[in-house]
Amino acid sequence: MEKHDLVVVGGGTSGCIAGKTAAELGLKVCILEQKIKKEIGIKACGEAVGIHHFYNIGISPPKGDELYSKVAGIDVLSPDLKTVHRIKVKNLTGFMVNRKVFGHRLLREALDAGVKFLDRTLVLEPIFKNNFTVGVKVKDLARNKTTEIYGKVVLDASGVTAILRRKMPPNWQIERIVENSDLEACIQETREVSTQIEDPEYLKIILSRKIAPGGYYWIFPKGNNLVNVGLGVQMTKNFPNPKKQLYKHILSQSLFKNSKKINGRAGLIPTRRPINLVGNGILFAGDSACQTNPAHGSGIGPSMIAGKFAAQTACKAIETGDVSQKNLWSYNINYMSQYGNKYAGLDVYRIFIQKCRDEDFNYGMKNQLIKGEHIFSRTTPYEDLESNQMPWIRRTDTHPLLKALIQTSNNMKRIKKIYEQFPQPEGYSTWALKVKEIIEEMKEMTLETSVPLQATHNR
Ligand SMILES: Cc1cc2nc3c(=O)[nH]c(=O)nc-3n(C[C@H](O)[C@H](O)[C@H](O)COP(=O)(O)OP(=O)(O)OC[C@H]3O[C@@H](n4cnc5c(N)ncnc54)[C@H](O)[C@@H]3O)c2cc1C
Repeated sequence: MEKHDLVVVGGGTSGCIAGKTAAELGLKVCILEQKIKKEIGIKACGEAVGIHHFYNIGISPPKGDELYSKVAGIDVLSPDLKTVHRIKVKNLTGFMVNRKVFGHRLLREALDAGVKFLDRTLVLEPIFKNNFTVGVKVKDLARNKTTEIYGKVVLDASGVTAILRRKMPPNWQIERIVENSDLEACIQETREVSTQIEDPEYLKIILSRKIAPGGYYWIFPKGNNLVNVGLGVQMTKNFPNPKKQLYKHILSQSLFKNSKKINGRAGLIPTRRPINLVGNGILFAGDSACQTNPAHGSGIGPSMIAGKFAAQTACKAIETGDVSQKNLWSYNINYMSQYGNKYAGLDVYRIFIQKCRDEDFNYGMKNQLIKGEHIFSRTTPYEDLESNQMPWIRRTDTHPLLKALIQTSNNMKRIKKIYEQFPQPEGYSTWALKVKEIIEEMKEMTLETSVPLQATHNR
């Protein structure tokens, strides 16, 4: 039986970048994908990617058929639509990409680097031997046959389904279950509109508990009168049906009058800090490792960066002949110190904003307590507090929203530091308890109040 160096489960953004990186480093790589090849890249998505990701990963930005439109910036709107925070990075913030064409480019680059690609191959479970992951059991969907595929290292890049992560041995300390409240249920449609789109080069994100509780809705113009419109809701008990919310509250708006549906899909986004990224003979990247930005759910860029890091680590470990969790651990250290620390802070912020009511957003955004820039991680509340960008907030504030913001800001700083001091495997369980303590404190934090903010906040 053919044995690969690296078996990658999933031919999405993280899997293809990982495959390409590993093959370029000389590894024998096989990507396993349940979909038929021509469907690669097709998935529920807002299709927006920041320009910086392309530079960070070292791949060329989208052009030609891959590019729907260039994005000048992002407008974050309050629920009452009265406050707009515009986020702009120089003249070009990012792109609206054709996910299918982009996905095919990534796959082609992986194939050109020498990756073997098996489509219609559904991965069922990991194969363990002597306490190591040594391969995967798969179903060949074309032949309706179950078989086994072996590799020195396996990468779970299967997206939110996390087919392997769910089946890891408990003593490897890999979180197998993501809580529902850490997931967003999303729906998205591409619509052709006949109404004039205002500022078409700006993506619109609208915070609204009524329409998208625990999330937001988006209106992303993508050229030629096309709009990617959608929403995500936090999957807490009795969360509303996203499709009903889309049709009732968003598609009823004047922009969508007489609009035509081109396509539409639903999907889940994990919106929490990343998990422990390695076990014996296995790594995790992308949505399977919860590497999306927790505050706004973007995961295309983060999944590609993680795929690259994971492949580089796998290559080094294979070279040394030791693919143990301990020897793969540098992926955790590198990733957490460069990205995980920021995302852990944003996870804390995400828990705070999921507790805010529409009146908190209206008031908070108007008075720069809640900023679009905080959600998009261009700055943090604690940096703004420390550099006196929010002089109207006192450390002694007792109003629930201000108190919660101060508590959030302190916890963001604390958790970021904890992630920057990511432990070696022996210290992981003690370290994880410190993280849990902060997250639990945030989840228990209450914001309910009948005291109008204005009463305590008129400085
Ligand atoms: C509605 C919605 C809107 C979004 N909008 C944006 C956005 O605008 N910008 C942004 O940056 N991010 C967005 N995201 C998030 C982004 O799409 C993901 O974070 C990103 O695609 C993750 O990449 P990945 O490679 O980890 O997983 P995926 O891209 O999901 O790839 C996983 C691959 O694994 C395959 N697979 C799964 N299970 C198996 C199995 N058992 N066997 C074999 N193959 C398997 C899948 O078919 C798939 O091809 C959005 C997500 C949703 C749901």
